[in-house]
Amino acid sequence: MADQKSVNITWHEGAVTRDERQKLLNQKGVTVWMTGLSASGKSTIACILEQMLLHKGKSAYRLDGDNVRFGLNKDPKSLMEKSGYSEDAAKRFGVGFSTDDRMENIRRIGEVARLFADAGVIAITSFISPYRKDRDAVRAACKPGEFIEVYVNVSLEAAEARDPKGLYKKARAGELKGFTGIDDPYEAPVKPEIIIDTEATPAEKAAEQILAYLERGGYLVA
Ligand code: ADP
Repeated sequence: MADQKSVNITWHEGAVTRDERQKLLNQKGVTVWMTGLSASGKSTIACILEQMLLHKGKSAYRLDGDNVRFGLNKDPKSLMEKSGYSEDAAKRFGVGFSTDDRMENIRRIGEVARLFADAGVIAITSFISPYRKDRDAVRAACKPGEFIEVYVNVSLEAAEARDPKGLYKKARAGELKGFTGIDDPYEAPVKPEIIIDTEATPAEKAAEQILAYLERGGYLVA
């Protein structure tokens, strides 16, 4: 039987490289990071982009509130302690909305997106991610060119008028504390790779704009 050392050597020689993964998928792994106010259109655009990529035979995966908050970032204790939410709200929302919780929320999402990108997948995240330093930390953890920041820009007035989930209404009524744009700041990106104004650009066109960026940047070939 081989000793432990030679087993390890065999393991390393057999390791699949990132290059091989990318060749297999005929694309480059990357994180497409959407940031913007609630109701700016991040999820809507992310869904369309994911579909467009899949129709082109590309592997893309969306990380959003639904598949992250209830699993990866489920942490009711932290939420209850730090944010003073009810137990019911804690159960529903997982990691809270305090500054520390938001930071940890974003850090974890960034790490998962990076792993997807490492596997050759186009990871699309759609989180408010309001703080510049949190987004910059995710960027810093990614290889150069593997973090594409998409600023989904909308005026607070327009976002509030859309209010698809009634969250602005609740925040204005004081039922939601620390709501971005109302009683918590949104720090717009300084140098995002892509800016989309969703008051002027329909969602489909916005997704096409991101797709065109990926094509131009050579992300859709190995
Ligand atoms: P977010 O993920 O940023 O919170 P959503 O995508 O969930 O935002 O909601 C945005 C709302 O705004 C949806 O109801 C969507 O139909 C609407 N909307 C109107 N115009 C646009 C646009 N140009 N791009 C994206 N969404 C838009």
